[in-house]
Amino acid sequence: MDKTDKKKFYDSQTWKDCRLLVLNRDNHLCQICLKQKKIRSADIVHHKEHLEDYPDKALDMDNLLSVCSSCHNKEHPEKGKKEQRKKRTRRIKVIEVKANEEVI
Ligand SMILES: [Zn+2]
Ligand SMILES: [Zn+2]
Repeated sequence: MDKTDKKKFYDSQTWKDCRLLVLNRDNHLCQICLKQKKIRSADIVHHKEHLEDYPDKALDMDNLLSVCSSCHNKEHPEKGKKEQRKKRTRRIKVIEVKANEEVI
């Protein structure tokens, strides 16, 4: 899955619906924080098996997890390393803007 496909996917209504189902299932709470007995609201739905590697699981509820942005960054250490300067800020911004729209 390349960048254009990913963008299309994240813009699709199917993904938005699926994302909302996952957030509702997880009570809009970060599931990783919850395991550590911390209550934090989730603003990102993360693919446990990354979208790039497993596009087949893109809409698989079992592969999706509600997380907060700080846990999400930990789940994607590769973002920080390889793409540190060029893409990092841009990508994070896009995700946050989307998340806010949909939560409201
Ligand atoms: Zn968290
Ligand atoms: Zn993720």
